[in-house]
Amino acid sequence: MSSFREPSIQAPADPLPEDRALRPQRMAEMIGQRGVYERLEIAIDAARKRGESLGHILLDGPPGLGKTTFATCIPNELGTTLQIASGAALAAPKDLLPYLTNAAEGSVLFIDEIHRLPIAVEEFLYPAMEDFRIDITLGDGVAARTINMPLRPFTLVGATTRAGLISAPLRDRFVIREHLDYYSPAELAEIVHRSAGKLQMPMDDETADEIAHRSRGTPRLANNRLRWIRDYSTSRAESRLDLEIARAALAMQGIDELGLDSFDRRYLETIQRVFHGGPVGIEAIAHTMSSAPDTLEDDVEPFLLRCELVIRTPRGRKITPKGDDHIGGRPAARGRLF
Ligand code: ADP
Repeated sequence: MSSFREPSIQAPADPLPEDRALRPQRMAEMIGQRGVYERLEIAIDAARKRGESLGHILLDGPPGLGKTTFATCIPNELGTTLQIASGAALAAPKDLLPYLTNAAEGSVLFIDEIHRLPIAVEEFLYPAMEDFRIDITLGDGVAARTINMPLRPFTLVGATTRAGLISAPLRDRFVIREHLDYYSPAELAEIVHRSAGKLQMPMDDETADEIAHRSRGTPRLANNRLRWIRDYSTSRAESRLDLEIARAALAMQGIDELGLDSFDRRYLETIQRVFHGGPVGIEAIAHTMSSAPDTLEDDVEPFLLRCELVIRTPRGRKITPKGDDHIGGRPAARGRLF
């Protein structure tokens, strides 16, 4: 066992310490996602009343919508411990083994980016999820034998930005499957007020509404915008904060009225200018932008698709007339003169 990496039993590794300060610790503090919230609350309550472990949960949806937050709140509701792993870091069954053997009865194992699990790890997980046991092969060739090792019942919470990449056998082993959708401006405004309170910078409603409208339906972006506005206010406005100051801060970051940043606009401009509006494949766009297709598919496209600024066709991405308008109209038939 000595070669196994020690699993982390800890609070989530947030990119910024402040993120931890803003992340709700209990489900009751979470804003929005009411349907998901209520269904999970019932499942948690039932598990608690019956003294059973909670069924495995799969959460999917774009980044920054609260998958990790739900996963970290659930063990707090159950009064149990949490282990955190990432699909990308679990390269072989031996990487997953210590998490499974360390899982206390009724505890939660959170695997982020679960769509990135290699198939061998996924298959190792099946009996662990279904029967709380693992099959370990010892030795090689004719001398090889498999031993079964029982595990303590635990709850797996998987999160993914790509529900479509989860194999059917893995998906079917999750009892509860929930999709997180974008937040409404009203919900985001509530999150902004809550976070502003935690950062000790209370603000008026119209400033909170402005931040909410420019956060692409995403709590993480709402919090990021808020932090930037706070820095701007401290540095440039003697810590005053009003709508005008918030707008100036956002303008300086290149956040437009839809909440798109310069990278989002560059994606639209690439389709429009380089590929004459499309259709164009995601790889070609990624190459031109020196970016990764995954980044574009996970971080950029979902919101642009939702806003109908681009569409996906069988032949690739196309910018819509609304998308053209948003970045200042299509250059008049340029290139077609020749
Ligand atoms: P994901 O795991 O889906 O990428 P996170 O759970 O890390 O997203 O959420 C990003 C941040 O947004 C969190 O740190 C938290 O501060 C905030 N957040 C997410 N969901 C909510 C919510 N429902 N209410 C309040 N804040 C939220």
